[in-house]
Amino acid sequence: MIARLVGDDVTVRCLDGTERVYLGLDAGASTPAFERVATAVTEFLPNYSSVHRGAGAKSQFSTHAYEDAREKTLRFAGRSGGSDIAVLCRNTTEAINIAAHRFPLTAGDTIVTTVVEHHANLLPWQRAAERAGATIRYVECGIDGTFSPADVAAAIDSAQRPVLLAITGAANVTGWMPDLDPIIEHAHARGVRVLVDAAQLAPHRPMHTLRADLIAWSGHKMYAPFGTGVLIGPKDIFAEGAPFIVGGGAVNLVDLDGAMWTDAPDREEAGSPNVIGAVALAAAYDTFDEIGWQTIVDHEVALARKIRHGLAAIDGVTVLGPTVGDEAVDARMLAVGTFTVANMAHPLVAARLSHEYAIGVRHGCFCAHPYLVRLLGLSASDTSRYRHDITVGDRRDIPGAVRASAAISATDADIDRLLNAVAELAAGKPEPVAYRQDPSTGDFLPEG
Ligand code: PMP
Repeated sequence: MIARLVGDDVTVRCLDGTERVYLGLDAGASTPAFERVATAVTEFLPNYSSVHRGAGAKSQFSTHAYEDAREKTLRFAGRSGGSDIAVLCRNTTEAINIAAHRFPLTAGDTIVTTVVEHHANLLPWQRAAERAGATIRYVECGIDGTFSPADVAAAIDSAQRPVLLAITGAANVTGWMPDLDPIIEHAHARGVRVLVDAAQLAPHRPMHTLRADLIAWSGHKMYAPFGTGVLIGPKDIFAEGAPFIVGGGAVNLVDLDGAMWTDAPDREEAGSPNVIGAVALAAAYDTFDEIGWQTIVDHEVALARKIRHGLAAIDGVTVLGPTVGDEAVDARMLAVGTFTVANMAHPLVAARLSHEYAIGVRHGCFCAHPYLVRLLGLSASDTSRYRHDITVGDRRDIPGAVRASAAISATDADIDRLLNAVAELAAGKPEPVAYRQDPSTGDFLPEG
């Protein structure tokens, strides 16, 4: 084990009455805290006070801790001392909304993004484009859920030059990481700015080598689950106009006709800042540094291989995403296995892993509907049927998959435990008690 997380020893009672140590394999959604993060927060709390608002010693201390976390954020991204700023906000979703509000778009502009994106990197751009009269051009993916740098280059060059490329650093559904360096280089050579949604990337790969103009990530996915997210970007984007969220702290002066905004990053952070979240993030950066990125990457590449190869070897299991077994692909995968089991609904697989094996995974469409439609090869008539089912509140048959995503604390034994459980289910292990499906959610619960 290369890191310990809070709650690693928690046990839960399974249907057979056995207490088992809970195995969380849902790091792609949210991670537990690093122990060091929890310690940093506990040690900070006695001196907690308002940030940027008080004359007292504790306010000064809290303000210093908050600004220190901002500086560490810039250093984590390799952007310290330059013309970039770090906006501390709630999460990646808010960060990309701020970016979309701020990015200077005018009628006739084009944004390029991809069908692999999480909704957080689709919907803010769709709204911003609609408001500005701009258009969006999408990079398609293959049935294996990937595209090449050449596909992105072609989308950038195919028609009018875009003003922005908004692209994921790692796909949350499959754990696939596009080859960002040549993509960013191509965009920059044509004067196209690049935003990287690093929600999945930042906890698993170093950020200081990423040359994107704008980067967003979430503390709760990187072992600092105290409600802080990050947007890094060039200061000039935030220089003019009103911020996404308006209110106290973002202004120098207010009268009844309007406001004189303060400078970024404060201008983008109206309201009382979340200093606890910032302290937690700073401690998480320190922990990554202490473990060392090479150790993290080596460990997680090995886990990724084991999960994906192990799942693919089970009869009746289909792994979604890039082909399993290709060495070059293996190095581009996070420790994520997303799969379906023949003749077993995805919510039932997830429920049985939980109730019979104490394994926590996620199932469904993972907030990336266009991507999942492609990975599952759904036709237009399939999607219109599911659209109808959702409209009438019947989610029994909604397509999806099961995703097991490992945290940094996962071990080989943890992955074996998952693989054994999935193998038993795929081999037709009888249900110990009947599971009933709730039609309105699609989820299964054991009777009683
Ligand atoms: N982008 C990606 C790739 C994600 O995986 C997620 C979270 N699942 C988000 C954006 C949104 O992150 P958050 O919920 O922290 O805003």
